[in-house]
Formats: sequence, C-alpha cells, structure tokens
Amino acid sequence: MKKVFNLILIYTVLTSNLFAQTTHLDIHYKVSFVEANKNEMHIDMIIQGVKPGEFTCKMPQWMPGYYQIMNYANYISDFQIKDENNNSISFKKPTINSWTINKKNSKKIIISYNIIATKKFVANNYVDTSRAYIIPCATFLYPENNLQISPTIQILKPNNWSTIVTGLATISNKSNYYKATNYDILFDSPILIGNLEELQPFYINDIKHRFIGYNLGNFNKEKFINDLAKVIKAGINIIGDIPYTEYTFIGIGPGRGGIEHLNNTTVSFDGRGLDTEDGLNSTMSFLAHEFFHNYNVKRIRPFELGPFNYDAGSKTNLLWVSEGLSVYYEYLMVKRSGIMTDKALLSSFNKNITTFENGPGKNFQSLTQASYFTWQDGPFGTAGPVKNKSISYYEKGPIVGLFLDFCIRHNTNNKKSLDDVMRYLYQTFYQIKNRGFTDAEFQMACELIAGTSLNDVFEYVYTAKPLDYSTYLGYGGLSLKLLDDKKFKLEPLLLMDKLQSEIYESWLH
Ligand SMILES: [Zn+2]
Repeated sequence: MKKVFNLILIYTVLTSNLFAQTTHLDIHYKVSFVEANKNEMHIDMIIQGVKPGEFTCKMPQWMPGYYQIMNYANYISDFQIKDENNNSISFKKPTINSWTINKKNSKKIIISYNIIATKKFVANNYVDTSRAYIIPCATFLYPENNLQISPTIQILKPNNWSTIVTGLATISNKSNYYKATNYDILFDSPILIGNLEELQPFYINDIKHRFIGYNLGNFNKEKFINDLAKVIKAGINIIGDIPYTEYTFIGIGPGRGGIEHLNNTTVSFDGRGLDTEDGLNSTMSFLAHEFFHNYNVKRIRPFELGPFNYDAGSKTNLLWVSEGLSVYYEYLMVKRSGIMTDKALLSSFNKNITTFENGPGKNFQSLTQASYFTWQDGPFGTAGPVKNKSISYYEKGPIVGLFLDFCIRHNTNNKKSLDDVMRYLYQTFYQIKNRGFTDAEFQMACELIAGTSLNDVFEYVYTAKPLDYSTYLGYGGLSLKLLDDKKFKLEPLLLMDKLQSEIYESWLH
C-alpha cells in the first residue's frame, strides 16, 4: 500500500513539473496611483501565453511572516477583465479569492482592479497622497498552479514621490521596472514609495546594509547606524554566513510591528525613544528580531513553511522556534553588541517570565499547540475560541530557549551552546538539504549538539508542564525570585561552581 502511494506521489510530481515546463506564461503588472487621494491604487495585470480554455487567478489569503488569514481579496474593487481588443471577458468566482476566466481565443488578457488601502499596519497595504506601502500578497493576483513563473512589475510613480524601495531586482535600462524570480520572491518583497529618507549605509564583510523609510523622525542618525551595525554584526556572528547580497531595513512610518523577508524587513519606525536606555534597547531588540528572521524562519525554517499554502495558511508546530527563539536571540544580539547592560538583559527575560507565569493559559496550552493554533487564537494567543486557555510563543518561547541553551552548555562543559544548534540547522537544512526541518529533526539537532537526550527540556515544548526554573536556570548560575507584586526577577546565584560561573560569564558576553 505504501509503495503504491509513493508511486502515485512521484507520478503527480513529475506530471506537475511537466505542466510547469510547457507553460509559457508572460505576466506583467502596472501599478498606478491616480486615486491615491481616495486611498486606492490601480493594478493592470497583463497576461500573455495562456492556452485556450479556462484559466484561474488567485489572491493569497495571508502573507508569510504574519500567520493570520487576512482576506486580502476583500480589498479589491472595480474588477474587470478585457482582451487585446478591449472586449470584456466573462469570469466566474469559485471562491472568495479566485477568478476563473473563460478566455476563448484571446491572445492577451488584461485584468484590472483597484486595491483599497486604508489600514496603517505592517501586514496591510496603505496608500495616500504622501506614500504607498505595498504588500505583494495583498496586491498581485497570481496564476493558479504557476507560482514558478517570473513576473515583471512596473511602478508608475507620481512625479512628486522621489523614491521606490523594495527587495525586488531591478531591470537594467528600465526605470521603475522590477522582476521577481518567481511568485514566492514577489510575495516576499514589499514595496515602499514616497519621499523617503535614506541613512548612511553600513557594510559588514563588504555587504551593504541600508536603512530607508518614510517619516523616520528626529534622532541622532549617525549614532543609530553605528549601534545598528554592531547589533547586526552580532547576529551575523551567530550563523557565520551572510546569505544575501544586500539587506534593507524599510521604515514604513509610525505604528507597531515588523515583517521579515529574505533580503529586507519592513518595520514600523519613527525613531522615538532612542535617547533613553529602555527605548534604545527595545528598538534595537525589535530590529535585531526582524533581522535575525532572515536566518531563523526565512532560511532555517520549519518543514511546513514552504512551499506556502497561500489559501489556507501553512500550519506548523514550530513557530515557537521561528518566533520564540528569534526573541531569545534579539536580546542576545543587543547584549553581545555591547549596547545592552547585564541588568537590562536579565530584565528582558523578567518581563517574559512575568507575563507568561501570570497568564491564564500556561497550564492549558503547550508551545507546539500555541504555534499550530495561532491561526485561530491570534498572533499573541489571546483571542479565538480558547481565550484564557492559550499562551504566546513570544513569551514562553524565549524562556524555553534559555533552558535549552543552558542545558546544552551544561552537558558539554560549556563547549557548545544554542548558537551551535542554529548554525547546524542553517548548514544542514538550508545550505545542504535546502528544505525545512520537522519537529523531530529540531529536537535531534539539539540533542546532537548537547550529546545527550533532551527529552526533559522538550517536555516544556510539547506539554503545559510547569517550568522547572531552579534546575535549568541553575545550570547557568541564575535563580528566579518572585517579588511581592507577582513580578519575577532573575538574579545571579550567590555561590556558583566553576561550570556555572563559566556558563554565566560566556552567556553574558
Ligand atoms: Zn518575529
């Protein structure tokens, strides 16, 4: 039975590849902003090379990096389809986000629509007369079963907007033309247009890192770039490889949230608070988090996060690794850059522990469940049908990350750490196998580096068992104190043995 199933699977893969090779679709998008004053942008999608018969285009229902169904197709208006002679072509709408077109013998199809872009949020389009923030998943229809083709994009930029920034490749000799290797790359490449300000770039191993955005605000920009360069260097040092040819931080203006991509991140940013210690630490941690995702989730990724299911979402148990460990490393990157003090590092974990331990869901939901059910629970595990019975992997994830790190250090006489696990995953699964890892493979990677079974620590991943702080924090010379106001506080142990003090010192520096 298994063999037959495998054969069918191989046959399906072969035939779908065959279809992919025999399709010569040519797709070009024009994006214009005549009605920016009404918070709308206009898209013309010009398709050539479609075989006679029915043809389906779809809009993704979500964007990778923001694990919620966003119903992007609801923001489309004035939808119409014409042929090369300007005759209307009829279509059916089999689902909320798909359009099936009966093109008959037309050589060319032009699909035109407006996108209503009123939400100032990092995972939504926003357009007004000052700028446009374009989420490709929420903007560009794609040809069903043809995500491998390479579309081109032309931005008809209003004359009073100076700059376009995006991670997409430009087309030489054509201004404001871009090309994506395939739809996954297009959907991974937000676009910001307006009168943007670019800060002085910095280089690490000759690779350019840019910071550019809308309404960046007033702050000491030279110091900011110096600080950011140190933080990014600390992140690169964890993995030991730079996989992109250029990296760009794209500031979309005031607000909350950031979303990671392969060679850029879009971040809500207004430069406020950078002159205070807390503000600097939290902004640098936020930027470190989004940057570290270029490794942890974009390249070191759960098996289920690619190829993406743009309709239903890609459910995985492992967002606690992708998100929770990115929180863990955001703190360590800022600490290792020399910007954050020892006290501030411990205080970052204090906040996580206090929020997690005082939350109502800690005895009900595991990290794997929080990851899998985020699509219904909401990004922070506080909404949906299991309200008060869910947790956030952003809170518990970094605590279990700390347990794992200390446990690996303890079992290897402080010769190895969680950094070695991240490097192993990067080299084995991204560079060699070019695929994601499963739940079991993640645990196996940790155990390989630790040289021992880590079943005890992974119980805190797979179950809601209460966390044994004294054992795992003790490995690294830390203890946890409960204060009167239900707040928790990490403190170094008064007496440490040799290994504890070695782990404590090397973890801090
Ligand atoms: Zn994140």
